[in-house]
Amino acid sequence: MFTLWFIAFLFANTLTRTWVAVRQIRHVGKHRGQVPPEFADRISLRSHQRAADYTSAKVQLSLAQFVVETAALVALTLLGGLQYLDLAFARLIDHEMLRQLALLGSVVAILSLISLPFDIWRKFRLEARFGFNRVTPRLFATDMLKGLLLALALGAPLAAAVLWVMGNAGANWGWWAWGLWVAFNVLVLWLFPTVIAPMFNKFTPLQDDAVRDRIQALAQRSGFTLNGLFVMDGSKRSAHGNAYFTGFGRSRRIVFFDTLLARLNVDEIEAVLAHELGHFKHRHIIKRMFISFAMALIFLLTLNWLSQQVWFYTGLGVLPQLGRANDALALVLFLLVVPVFTFWVTPLASWFSRRDEFQADRYAASQSSAAALISALVKLYDDNAATLTPDPLHSAFYDSHPPAVLRIQKLSYAP
Ligand SMILES: [Zn+2]
Repeated sequence: MFTLWFIAFLFANTLTRTWVAVRQIRHVGKHRGQVPPEFADRISLRSHQRAADYTSAKVQLSLAQFVVETAALVALTLLGGLQYLDLAFARLIDHEMLRQLALLGSVVAILSLISLPFDIWRKFRLEARFGFNRVTPRLFATDMLKGLLLALALGAPLAAAVLWVMGNAGANWGWWAWGLWVAFNVLVLWLFPTVIAPMFNKFTPLQDDAVRDRIQALAQRSGFTLNGLFVMDGSKRSAHGNAYFTGFGRSRRIVFFDTLLARLNVDEIEAVLAHELGHFKHRHIIKRMFISFAMALIFLLTLNWLSQQVWFYTGLGVLPQLGRANDALALVLFLLVVPVFTFWVTPLASWFSRRDEFQADRYAASQSSAAALISALVKLYDDNAATLTPDPLHSAFYDSHPPAVLRIQKLSYAP
C-alpha cells in the first residue's frame, strides 16, 4: 500500500515538474521577441533575449537532473539498491556504529557522484556559455575537496550522534535528536560567517568612504547598529551579483558581492542595503529559523514513528535486519523519500518567501529611495540575465523573489 502511495506521488511530481518546466520554456519563448514595455527604455532586446535563452537552458538542465535523480531514487529503493548495500556492509563491518555510518556515507557518496556531472555541466557549459562562469577547473576541484572535508568534519559527528541517540535514547528518541539538530544548526549559523564562508571567499571590510558614510547614515536613521559590512570576492566564481544578511549576535554581518558594488551607484547600494535591513527589521531570518526548527521536529517525530513500522521498510524495497540496528537504514530511507512528499509544499514556501521580499522592498522604500531600488533591481535583473517574463505558474511554484514587473509596480506606488 505504501509502495503505491510512493509511486503515485513520484508520478505526480514528475508530471507536475515537467509540465511547469515546459510552461516556463514556452512562456519565456513566446515573449522573447519583445522587451516588456515597462523596461523598454532600460533593457535592450539583446539582453532580454539572452535572459530568455539562459532561463530556458537552466530549466532544461534542472529537469534532466531531476529525471536522473528520480531514476537513482527508484534504483536505491524499489529496485533494491539500498537492500544490497545494507547486506554488503553487514557482511563487511562488524562494528555497529561504523557499519551504519558506512551505509549513510555510501548513499551520500552515490548521490553526490550522480549530481557531479550536472554541477560540472552547469558551471563549465551553461554558465560559461552566458559569460557568468569564472571558476577554473582547479578552483572547482579545490572547492570540492574543501566541501568534502567540511562535510566530513561537520556531518560525520552529527550523523554519529543522531545514530547514537536513535539507538540509546529510548522509544521517544525523536525529541533528543531534535535537540541535537537545533544545537548543530545554531553552531553552523554561528560559524558560517566567521569560519565557513571565509574558507571559500575573501571578506574585506567595506572601504569606500562615500558608500560607508551613506550606509552609516541609513543605519542611524533606521535605528541599526551595524558592526559588520563586508565585501566578498564573488567575482572569483561568477559574474552574478548579490547581497545578503548572515549570522546572528556578534557574528551578524551584511555581505556585498564585489560584482554588485562594481555595478551600482551609491544611491542604489543604499537602497539594496535598506532592503536587506528590511529583512532584519521584520525578523525574517529569525522567523525562518523557528519555522525550520518546527518542521525539523515534525520530521523527526515522524521518522521516530516510521522507523518502528515494518511496512515503511518493506514498502520501499528493504527488509530490516533482525537483531541489528536499522537506524541508518530508516534515516536514509526517510531522507530519500521525504522530498517526494514535501514537493507539494514548495508553492507555499515560495509564497511566504515572496511576501517577505515585498515587505523588505516596502521597508527599503520608506527608509531609502524606491526609485533607487527600482534602478538597482533593473540592473540586477539585466546583469544576472533573470527573465522579466516568467510563466506565472512556474513563478508561483518556485520563485523565492517576486517577478521584476510586480516588484517594480509595487515600488512605483510606494509612498
Ligand atoms: Zn530580499
